[in-house]
Amino acid sequence: MSGGFAQRAREALGNQQLHIALDRTTAQLVVRRAAGLASLEDADRVRDRARASKMQLLHTLADSLRAFEARLVENGARVHWAETAADANRIIVEIATKAGVRRVAKSKSMASEETHVNGAFERAGIGVVETDLGEYIVQLAGDRPSHIIMPIVHMTREQVGRVMAQRLAVPYSDDTQTLARYARAQLREEFLQADMGLTGANFGVVENGAICLVTNEGNARMVTTLPRVYVVLMGIEKLVPTMADLDRFLKLLARSATGQKLTAYTTLVRGPRRSGDDSGPDQMHVVLLDNGRSKILAGETAEILGCIRCGACLNACPVYRSVGGHAYGDVYPGPVGSIVTPGIRGLAPFAELPSASSLCGACREVCPVRLDIPRMLLALRHEAVEHTRQPAALRMGLKLFARVASRPRLYRAATAVVRRVLRSRARDGWIRRAPGMASGWTRFRDLKAPAAETFETAWRRRAAGRTS
Ligand code: SF4
Repeated sequence: MSGGFAQRAREALGNQQLHIALDRTTAQLVVRRAAGLASLEDADRVRDRARASKMQLLHTLADSLRAFEARLVENGARVHWAETAADANRIIVEIATKAGVRRVAKSKSMASEETHVNGAFERAGIGVVETDLGEYIVQLAGDRPSHIIMPIVHMTREQVGRVMAQRLAVPYSDDTQTLARYARAQLREEFLQADMGLTGANFGVVENGAICLVTNEGNARMVTTLPRVYVVLMGIEKLVPTMADLDRFLKLLARSATGQKLTAYTTLVRGPRRSGDDSGPDQMHVVLLDNGRSKILAGETAEILGCIRCGACLNACPVYRSVGGHAYGDVYPGPVGSIVTPGIRGLAPFAELPSASSLCGACREVCPVRLDIPRMLLALRHEAVEHTRQPAALRMGLKLFARVASRPRLYRAATAVVRRVLRSRARDGWIRRAPGMASGWTRFRDLKAPAAETFETAWRRRAAGRTS
C-alpha cells in the first residue's frame, strides 16, 4: 500500500462515494449500539466484570493457554503454535497438503486477514473462497475489508451490484435481497465442494476448550461441519476463562457491534466428529497465533489484547468516520488498529497511526471492555517521538516553544505580539488566512481572533476591582 496515513487520508477525504457509504452505516451502528446497551440490565456492571476477567486472564495468559491446549487435546483437536504470520500460513498449508485438500471454505477471520493466508493457499495451488457475504464481495472485487465487522462498509450497494454483475455474470441490481440471493446460490455450491473449513475464533473457553464463533449468516456452521478438515486460526489473546464469562462477552459483543441482543448464530465447537455424530469434520486443528502479541503484552499497550473486535470504537471515531478503514494501511482500522497495527507490524512504518486521533475519548466511552484507548495512543505517540526521527522544523519549533513557555515575562511579551498580529488580520472576529506556522490551520478552516485581553489580564483586573 502506497504512502502514509496522511496521504491516504487526504485521498479518502476527497472520495465522495466513500463518504456516502460511511455515513449510511456508521451513524446507524452508533444508534443501534446505544439502544442495544440500554436493553442490557445492569450494563455497567456487566462491562466491569467482563473487563476484570479479561485483564486477569491476560495477567496469567501463559497458564491459561496451557490449560486451553490441554482441554483441546482432550477434546480430540490437534494444537499448533505459530510464532509469526508466516509460521501460521506454513502450518495451515501443510495441514491442507497432507490431507489432500483442493478447496477451502473460509468464515470471516481477522487473524487470517492478518497473516494473508489466502495468498499462501493460492501459491500452493489450493482454491479458497470467503463465505461471509461481505468478505465474499471483497474477494470478488479484489478489494480489502475496511471495517472489523462490516468488511464492505466503504462500498455502496450500487457498487456491490456492479461487482456482482461483472464477476458472477448476473443481471445488475442494487436491491440488497437480490444481491444476497445471488451470493447464496454461489456459496451453496462452495460449501459442498470444500474439503477444508477455516475460521477464526471469537472466543476460546479455557475451562472446556470450546471454540466460540458468532455470525449473522450461519456460514460458520457450514464451514465447521461440512468439510472433512477443520482449522481454527486464533490469536492467543482470544481466551475467556469460563462459560459464564463467555455469556457476558456474547451479550456485550452483539450489542456493541450491531445493537442485537445476541448475534443470530452462536456456534460452539468442541472437537472433531465423534462416533455417533451425524456430522462434523474428521480432523480439527487449532493454530494459536502470536505474531507480536507477546511483545504487546510486555509493553504499555498490553490492555489492547482485551479487545473483543466489536468495531464500536471505529463507528464512534470522528477520524475513522471521515477517512474509512483503508487509510489505516493494514488489517485493523480505527482506534483499535492504531494500537494493534504498530504492535504486530512494528511502530516505525506505522508511527503516524497513534496521531490519527483527536483524543476526544469517544472510543473509550463505547468500548464494552472499557479499554483506555486514548492512554495507549498517547503512550505510542511518546514512543514514536523517542524512537523515530521527527522533522527538524518540528524539533526546533518545540524547543523554541519550551524556552519561551518556561519564562513567564518572555511568554507574555511573545503572546502579546502574536495576539496583535492576529487581531490585525481579523475580519468580523475571524481570521481567514493566518501567517507563518499558523497558516496550516487556516488552509482548511477559519481561526477565531484572539480576545483583546488575555484571561490572565482579565482575571487580575477583576480581582483588583474586587479588592479596591
Ligand atoms: S477496542 Fe473496544 S470498542 Fe474497539 S473494537 Fe475492541 S472491544 Fe470494540
